[in-house]
Amino acid sequence: MAGNVALVVAAGRGLRLGGAVPKQYLRVGGQPILRRALGAFLSHRSIDAVAAVINPEDRDLFDAAAAGLDLLPPIDGGATRQESVLRGLEALVPVGPGRVLIHDAARPFVDAATIDRVLAGLDRAAGAVAGVPVTDTLKRGAGDLIEATIDRPGLWRAQTPQGFRFADILAAHRAAAREGAMASTDDAAVAERARLAVALVLGSEDNLKITTDDDLKRAERMCAAEAEVRTGMGFDAHRFGPGDHVWLCGIRIPFEKGLTGHSDADVGLHAATDALLGAIGAGDIGRHFPPGDEKWRGAPSHIFLRHAGDLVAERGGRVLNLDVTIVCERPRIGPHREAMTGRIAEILGLARERASVKATTTEQMGFIGRGEGIAAQAVATVRLPPTP
Ligand code: MG
Repeated sequence: MAGNVALVVAAGRGLRLGGAVPKQYLRVGGQPILRRALGAFLSHRSIDAVAAVINPEDRDLFDAAAAGLDLLPPIDGGATRQESVLRGLEALVPVGPGRVLIHDAARPFVDAATIDRVLAGLDRAAGAVAGVPVTDTLKRGAGDLIEATIDRPGLWRAQTPQGFRFADILAAHRAAAREGAMASTDDAAVAERARLAVALVLGSEDNLKITTDDDLKRAERMCAAEAEVRTGMGFDAHRFGPGDHVWLCGIRIPFEKGLTGHSDADVGLHAATDALLGAIGAGDIGRHFPPGDEKWRGAPSHIFLRHAGDLVAERGGRVLNLDVTIVCERPRIGPHREAMTGRIAEILGLARERASVKATTTEQMGFIGRGEGIAAQAVATVRLPPTP
């Protein structure tokens, strides 16, 4: 293989943010930071394979963060970043890439154009590093006083990805390790030490490294700005039959009849489930819980709604609100509305004001007006990460 491989370095245990979880596994915009970084390379047309270097203690976190992604097997990192990169490069030897792009997992917003510029830079030099020219005036401080003003022209802030011809950077890292030069903070420094020519190419101000709490907030704002808001609707109706209660929006209401259906016939939760599934383009309730399946006979319908909520979360999404309208002449919904609203919020783990239950009649017209059954409509709004 002579292709381009991305090596995403995620072995650090920076716990400054979020306590017990290393920062690359924290979520921004509903997705682990590392998953976003991996996705940027997986979705790039010029990248042939992607591997991550991880801390072996984080294996469970990694498996969860990278679930479903088509990656090379993860590589166990070392005690320092430089050691982790060397281990990553050694593990890629059998893969035989022509070029490798080394990237920090804490930079989830690297864009395709930056990756293109790094690859193009490798056509003219052994290495190519994304960076941005320094525009602020730089001062060297001594205590809280200025000691000197640093000459700014020619200064760049180095980012990642940093791309290299594979054989060159492997040899440079091996030499640095052999000679005990293990204090480099990036791979360009290792390359410079080996006297490789390294090109500077334009990165992006959005390609930030998430290090502090402020970075995390900025990242959340960036995700919110690019998120998609989607809407789905659901409708359901069930016929009255013998019984002494009905289930509506997860609440048991004593009544002179029951509702017939394969499950508990809760039209409110069925419409709500279909609305959520619709918002994420995931089919309908019958596809996920076939009515012919004995497993769902008499099933409590909160199972269906929770499943739909889990699917939204799996896609990195969030339910913004869910609005259900129940249509019937009887039983009276008003006395139960608060309980129904609370139950829906509880099933989905939502703040109460994000759920809503309303009721109406059809003024005695049609099948509902004749008291043959109950219908429900629902509209769900969800926020999803943008689809590439
Ligand atoms: Mg139904």
